[in-house]
Amino acid sequence: MPHSSRLAEQLWLSLNTQTSPLIRQTVSQLVIRRKGELADLFYAYMLENPTARHFLSVQAVEVRLKPGLQRWMEVLFCHASQEELAAALAMQRHVGEVHARAQIPVNLVAQGLRLLKQHLHRSLIGSELERDDLVHAVLYVDELTDVAFEEMSAAFVQSSERGVRADEAFRMVAAGRDLALEREKQSVAILEWEARFYRVLASGASMDDMPSLGESEFGLWLHHKAPLLFDDSQELPAINEAVERVDEALFPQLALGRDRNDPQSERQRDLTRAVLIQIDEIKFLLRSMFDRLVDLEVGRDVLTQLFNRRFLPSILKREINLARKNGRGFCVMMLDIDHFKRVNDEFGHDAGDRVLQQVAGQIMNLVRSSDFVFRYGGEEFLAVLAAADQERACQIGEKVRRHIEEQKILLAGGRSVQVTLSVGIATDDGHPDYQRLIERADKALYAAKDSGRNRVVVA
Ligand code: GH3
Ligand code: MG
Ligand code: MG
Repeated sequence: MPHSSRLAEQLWLSLNTQTSPLIRQTVSQLVIRRKGELADLFYAYMLENPTARHFLSVQAVEVRLKPGLQRWMEVLFCHASQEELAAALAMQRHVGEVHARAQIPVNLVAQGLRLLKQHLHRSLIGSELERDDLVHAVLYVDELTDVAFEEMSAAFVQSSERGVRADEAFRMVAAGRDLALEREKQSVAILEWEARFYRVLASGASMDDMPSLGESEFGLWLHHKAPLLFDDSQELPAINEAVERVDEALFPQLALGRDRNDPQSERQRDLTRAVLIQIDEIKFLLRSMFDRLVDLEVGRDVLTQLFNRRFLPSILKREINLARKNGRGFCVMMLDIDHFKRVNDEFGHDAGDRVLQQVAGQIMNLVRSSDFVFRYGGEEFLAVLAAADQERACQIGEKVRRHIEEQKILLAGGRSVQVTLSVGIATDDGHPDYQRLIERADKALYAAKDSGRNRVVVA
């Protein structure tokens, strides 16, 4: 459980103990009685609101969002046990994550909650509660909602930060940033620092002339740019630790020894060697970090040369915004090779890899140049078909399916193999959360599998 959630849980627990059962019951009964009406008021307001309207369709409001809001109110105001409380917290985090994916502004959520609180307060004032109880009830509603909002916002911020990091990395990649050059520059920067270190050592100059590793060109790059490129790498924390060790432990001791004028002492030599060992370690870590990025994270999958799925959220968010702006929907197409395991089993993994490459290449050739194709999983691909309605998407899906079915894939030793694809298509229905679109395409794909494979099914 994240730190913020533990705090929220404590707050809610103490709120529950401080609030009399009578008041909690009054509030929960009020919510149960009025939740339908409150959901109506809430969405009437949101549909009037020019910002909120973007994210809503009348149908989605009636079918999904109003019942969802009612459930949310019930979970929040009517939880009885500690398990229910934990579930209520988990729900707040989930809502925050959905809002982040859908890019719903936090101020809009705050407005909505204010509206709900206002109506609940008014109903409480109109109830038969005595003055003291009334104050407690109002505070209870207030604090519960505030903590819920904090929890939602914490999840929202975390998700958005992850998204922003991926977006940034994508922008660097998409802008054609040359990773080989970046790598070369940083190796040179370390070498230069190392050369300077040797010069200072040899000249007997004061260590004050030596910039710390953290403040060197490499160090600055490490702190400011590397986190964008190497988001989740395991090497990055290790490099940072090595830099810290040099700057905070080894360097001050070296400087001390030089001030005492014993540059040739055994201890000084050990310290120097220790610095150089750290530098070698950093060089090694840097190399493997770049290797992996070049292989995997430049946005392309090494084997198939398709986009890496890491960038899928960025692309889908963009397409959802574009569709909203210009009114032309898009489609998500999920493609999975049928009985691919048999290919591996019968011809070996190398042959399997070759089939994956060929199929990926075919898909790339058959979609339009405006479409994005990702390797979604092992033998699963996902295409984002820009500005395509259901009919167009089906044509594309069918064309791909037919081509793959007809194609003979040549393998080593003069053998060949044929495979088929099952395809699931989902049309963008204006829902701001891209995850739903993927789930719908996935369901359609499974329907295609269930109904015999080698076919296209629309969600
Ligand atoms: P279905 O028609 O239901 O999709 O059956 P399937 O055999 O295609 O699906 P399943 O998910 O059972 O197996 C997928 C296999 O794909 C299992 C895995 O070993 C293989 N695979 C995943 N990634 C790779 C890869 O990169 N190379 C090779 N050669 N095989 C891979
Ligand atoms: Mg398969
Ligand atoms: Mg599969």
